[in-house]
Amino acid sequence: MTPFLRQEYGNPSSVHQRGQQAEAAVAHARARVADVLGCSPHEVIFTSGGTESDNLALRGTAFAERDRRSATHILTTPVEHDAVLRTADDLVTRFGFELQLLPIDSYGMVSPSDLERAIHPEIALVSVIYGNNEIGTINPIAELGAICMEKGIPFHVDAVQAAGHLPLNVQDLNVNLMSISGHKIYGPKGIGVLYVSADIELVPLLTGGSQEFGTRPGTLNVPSIVGFAEALRIADLDREALAQRVQPLRDRLMQEIPHLIPDSRSVGHPTDRLPHHASFVFRNIESNQLLTGLDLAGFECSSSSACKTGDPEPSKVLQALGLTPDWSSGSLRISLGRANSEQDIDNFLAVLPNLVERLRSAEAMQA
Ligand SMILES: *Cc1c(COP(=O)(O)O)cnc(C)c1O
Repeated sequence: MTPFLRQEYGNPSSVHQRGQQAEAAVAHARARVADVLGCSPHEVIFTSGGTESDNLALRGTAFAERDRRSATHILTTPVEHDAVLRTADDLVTRFGFELQLLPIDSYGMVSPSDLERAIHPEIALVSVIYGNNEIGTINPIAELGAICMEKGIPFHVDAVQAAGHLPLNVQDLNVNLMSISGHKIYGPKGIGVLYVSADIELVPLLTGGSQEFGTRPGTLNVPSIVGFAEALRIADLDREALAQRVQPLRDRLMQEIPHLIPDSRSVGHPTDRLPHHASFVFRNIESNQLLTGLDLAGFECSSSSACKTGDPEPSKVLQALGLTPDWSSGSLRISLGRANSEQDIDNFLAVLPNLVERLRSAEAMQA
């Protein structure tokens, strides 16, 4: 990225040589992304990240499909990221769309037969998360996509968390729209991609110039685009090796933590889950206190909703799984990555039970 911040700072829309060099770098990056996704370069739209990609997919398709065939329903799941759920809510409350939620099982997974039952011509688009950020569960995207394709309904997939861990070939997955974000794949923050298949029409969120084939106007963020493409290339290349390394470590966490800690359980699917992802709930624990304690011990973890302000609202995803607040307020998710080792797991398992016990007894003394 550095050359594009220093010397090669041209605007890809400019006619002069420096601009054209930047344009060539963007074209190269777009082609690399298209290679990973198995699509053509003009189906790759660069955005400011996963949130914008999700918004562009939902709003853009909802408005286009309403114009085209008067479809006014959004069909999604109760376990989506807020970038999808709140966008769907906004389309309902401010733009007159209707929301339908697919049922999920106790692991937060959607079933193709439920989609088959729920889908109808009034639906503007279907949006389903690929690998769940809070609970790790993987949805059967290719099967769900085949159903949407047969009915001619656009299918969007939030693959922000899946990228770098699961296959992303859009042909195999039967998807029309797919969101990816840079910072979830060891890339820069504030950059993402929306894959939009050539047969899908989108109403742009922004109006302005003709960048990104008119779908996303605005001068391109060249250094981040170059960084994103390289991060995605490496993440895809490294994907299987990374999974082979971290999955056994993750399995240790999933197996041992519920035994080591009373009133604890894992959440999400035990096997059909992102290979690097472990998630738990602990009864009568405040997850922010748990995260602070873990940080002091050298472990950077997350709770179910990555919310640092102590928003007392429990996670919608954990609620959708039927967890009561005494459980859902004590959530923990652990994402393993390239840097993690067996030793990290040993250390973590040595620290966590005592920390949970300490927090519970402090809580009990206050009460
Ligand atoms: C992080 C995340 C997003 C939002 O992506 P940003 O690039 O942070 O805007 C959307 N969906 C999922 C599943 C995520 O994990």
